[in-house]
Amino acid sequence: TELKLTDGTLFTDRCLVDGSWITATDDGIAVTNPADGSLIATVPSLPADAIRRAIDAAHLAKDDWAARPVKERAALLHRWYQLILENADDLAVILSAEQGKPLAEARGEIIANAAYLEWFAEEAKRIYGDIVPPPARDRRVLVIKQPVGVCAAITPWNFPNGMITRKAGPALAAGCPIIVKPASQTPLSALALAVLAERAGIPAGVFQVVTGKASAIGTEFCLNPKIAKISFTGSTEVGRWLIRESAGDIKRLSLELGGNAPFIVFEDADLDAAVAGAMIAKFRNSGQTCVCANRIYVHRSLAGAFAARLAEAAARLKVGTAGEEGVEQGPLIDEKAVEKMEEHLADALAKGARLLTGGKRHARGGTFFEPTVLENVSQQMVLAREETFAPLAPVIPFDDEAEALAMANDNVFGLAGYFYTRDLARMFRVAEALECGIVGVNSGVIANEMAPFGGFKQSGIGREGSKYGIEEYLEIKYVCVAGL
Ligand code: ADP
Repeated sequence: TELKLTDGTLFTDRCLVDGSWITATDDGIAVTNPADGSLIATVPSLPADAIRRAIDAAHLAKDDWAARPVKERAALLHRWYQLILENADDLAVILSAEQGKPLAEARGEIIANAAYLEWFAEEAKRIYGDIVPPPARDRRVLVIKQPVGVCAAITPWNFPNGMITRKAGPALAAGCPIIVKPASQTPLSALALAVLAERAGIPAGVFQVVTGKASAIGTEFCLNPKIAKISFTGSTEVGRWLIRESAGDIKRLSLELGGNAPFIVFEDADLDAAVAGAMIAKFRNSGQTCVCANRIYVHRSLAGAFAARLAEAAARLKVGTAGEEGVEQGPLIDEKAVEKMEEHLADALAKGARLLTGGKRHARGGTFFEPTVLENVSQQMVLAREETFAPLAPVIPFDDEAEALAMANDNVFGLAGYFYTRDLARMFRVAEALECGIVGVNSGVIANEMAPFGGFKQSGIGREGSKYGIEEYLEIKYVCVAGL
């Protein structure tokens, strides 16, 4: 398929390694449009020696990059940020083509996450140490922060652009080169970001993108002693594998893994606001985000009215391909994703859930699915245990706050949680009791570059964004000065 771009050079099927754009020597990886299955491009399946070349280049670049005055690193990040904003429309076309989300949503992802480059360009200037009161007259205690070293990022397909700037921003700001391995389904957004990074003047070896067989690249990242740190966003299963595989070198890891967000509507909630919040928290990116509301708990007195209104709004969502006017829901990423949704749906219906809207593949065919709302759902159904990652909204009634909290926390995941209430005391009580890293109170939208994003429990390790995010790419060094 031919993509309509203002600047055609943003579309590339080559990887950026050590300042060179390299093509595949073998078959490569086909990138298709999930809306119609058409072939968009074929990107390299890089052999192990090319991955090692990238790691060697990053290792060679690291000392110079770390030694640059922070203003210089910040200026390059600002330039990259500006270029992303200027080219947001083209980047959105590339993103939508490989991922399926509506163009407006793709543009939103790009702009909201480019902000991490801007934010960390500023934070680079605030990597402060401490001078601590010493234990003796002739001593001084200094604490400084230094870049951790060469970083590797492994990123998912649901935010092909945003998950890269979130990691590259703090890494580069802290003084670390980073090598990105994007998801095989969506490498073109990563490669387009590499074009702009190079255009911004980021030196060879400091930002690189490699594509290829995930497990082979992952293994090289885990076992190569020149890689100091791996930042991963994806499934808990692969996260667990990375912990094990990288154990030999005691690598630093940041992991953003699966979620299973509870969304609680208390009896004192503003119902209109709660429905609107649930719509965005559930159906954004067709339900394919790790902070999507997976379990919607509604006080029994409101459950019927809430479910009916949610179903009404879900039925109105416009399903279609990315470029269509006013489209709000794209296709699911692949057939496997549709099958998971169908399994969760069938299990719930068999156990007594009632279908209010949707419930089947969309008339458009392929991997399009009707936005679906269920009521009379219970905690025993599979969809209340596992992350559905699809446009399936289950409404589960509860009788009191204690029961809602017990059900909300009864899960191994702990990324995001949401609740709606107008009671101030309850707001603090529930926010503190929820076992998750991110809490949305009276809001279905939570992520921004100024706030720390990350999970409790099996949802991961570490935080992205905020003043805390840069710490993931820094080591603390204590310098003891004696004999003064
Ligand atoms: P999802 O189910 O969302 O595709 P994955 O964890 O499988 O989640 O994918 C997230 C990222 O991890 C992708 O870039 C994918 O290619 C990569 N990945 C998958 N398997 C491995 C592996 N064994 N080692 C390293 N990376 C992997």
